[in-house]
Amino acid sequence: MLNSLWLHTAYPKDQYPKLDDDLRCDVCIVGGGLSGLTTAYLLAKEGKDVILLEKDSILGGASGNTTGKLTAQHDLVYAKLIKQFGEANAKIYYDVNEEAIAFGRSIAVNDELKDADSILFSQTEQGTEQLQQEMAAYKTLRMPGELGKNSELPIHTEATLTLKNESQIHPVRFGQHLAKLAVEAGARIFEHSDVTLMDLKKKLLSVNSAHEVHFNELVLCTHYPIEALRGLQFMKLLVTRSYVVSAEATMALQGQYISVDSPKRSIRTAQFDGKTHFLLVGEGHQAGVESETNVHYKTLHSEIDKIYNLSNVTHAWSAQDPQTPDLVPYAGSISSSIPYVYLSTGFRKWGMTNSIVSAHIIADQILGRVNRASGLYAPDRTGFGSFLLQAMKTTGLVLVEFTGGHLTRTDAPICTHMGCRTRWNEADETWDCPCHGSRFRKDGSVLEGPATKPLNLD
Ligand SMILES: Cc1cc2nc3c(=O)[nH]c(=O)nc-3n(C[C@H](O)[C@H](O)[C@H](O)COP(=O)(O)OP(=O)(O)OC[C@H]3O[C@@H](n4cnc5c(N)ncnc54)[C@H](O)[C@@H]3O)c2cc1C
Repeated sequence: MLNSLWLHTAYPKDQYPKLDDDLRCDVCIVGGGLSGLTTAYLLAKEGKDVILLEKDSILGGASGNTTGKLTAQHDLVYAKLIKQFGEANAKIYYDVNEEAIAFGRSIAVNDELKDADSILFSQTEQGTEQLQQEMAAYKTLRMPGELGKNSELPIHTEATLTLKNESQIHPVRFGQHLAKLAVEAGARIFEHSDVTLMDLKKKLLSVNSAHEVHFNELVLCTHYPIEALRGLQFMKLLVTRSYVVSAEATMALQGQYISVDSPKRSIRTAQFDGKTHFLLVGEGHQAGVESETNVHYKTLHSEIDKIYNLSNVTHAWSAQDPQTPDLVPYAGSISSSIPYVYLSTGFRKWGMTNSIVSAHIIADQILGRVNRASGLYAPDRTGFGSFLLQAMKTTGLVLVEFTGGHLTRTDAPICTHMGCRTRWNEADETWDCPCHGSRFRKDGSVLEGPATKPLNLD
């Protein structure tokens, strides 16, 4: 049961080899999620010699465990972006995310993508006020939003804010298709090829501690930046985890929904192979802080049964995503001291369009082209202002864990990234780190970074 609907209904798997030689390339991309695959495709089709290294199987990370809404409606964000970055930048954010949808439409075939309206809904007076403020931001940015009242959901809604004609994808089939296009354009993809060490000065990577890849430019699309970069971004990313249950349904929804009140819920249906699936997503919390995670699945099971009257739950899974303090991802060259190293992360659970946006920024930088979103998404930006204060409050726990984790709490193993105490996640049967979101399998091997070394379970 604990398996993603998307991974379970993927196309028959294309076999990509494990790296078994020392190689050289123009651009090495680490990570085979949507972010890495899009970057590989964009650069290969421009004639760059591209290698993509994936430690497990492509699309097995967040991209295979997402909700798959390909939309520029990223929860309540535009009023905040105008306040933090000004109108012009907020408009750039909207425009480039809309362009990412257009990119998706230009690639997708068959059931990989479907158009759908994106709808925010409120269930309280306070939520409705927030929707009104967001609508005002839509107007300022000339976004085609519409305030309304009723929805097709069998729950009470006070108000809705609709962004029409967005889309949703089967993220794994879409990503598999993208991988094929990248390979057809000349990219070389290697699976089960774990980057265990990076020497940024010598421009080489060690893969599976056995082979080397020499590169001119390096793009890190590992979701959370892997260990060797810990001095750069780790304190400016907060990781949150959410849970998904999916049941067979008889009717598809016209829209895809997200609530603005608590408890947060994201809802969509998906139709492919003649079947309809209903996805209910929520129960988010900071990654790695909870052991008794079964309760989250139970809550969603109960809701999908009682509220949506769907008893045939076929899949349940959970996943996490990092977010930056100011809500905008980090994409582009990391710093002027290592201009040939690029990073793509911090999508705040809106990485379907944002990974495409990030890939375009990075590809344009490598190809020497101007990209109007480069400044907004720059990884080395400063000026987080009140956002950083808020983030520090939220991540106060990180500091507690980091300084006190060795001494107290449990006898759980110590994370190999920065020495925080991990927690046993009873539903997923993993060791999860509350500090930066690393996750380890029962046997101690790394499931998700930033850690790259296994746990010591002795
Ligand atoms: C529950 C949930 C729901 C979401 N819903 C939506 C949604 O509806 N719409 C939306 O826009 N976004 C959504 N998101 C966010 C979106 O899924 C992610 O932001 C996006 O998939 C991230 O893509 P990525 O390529 O950066 O990371 P990933 O897909 O995680 O890919 C990173 C890859 O890097 C590999 N890797 C890591 N370390 C190494 C290494 N050392 N060597 C080699 N490979 C390595 C990993 O194995 C992995 O395959 C959701 C996220 C969650 C958690």
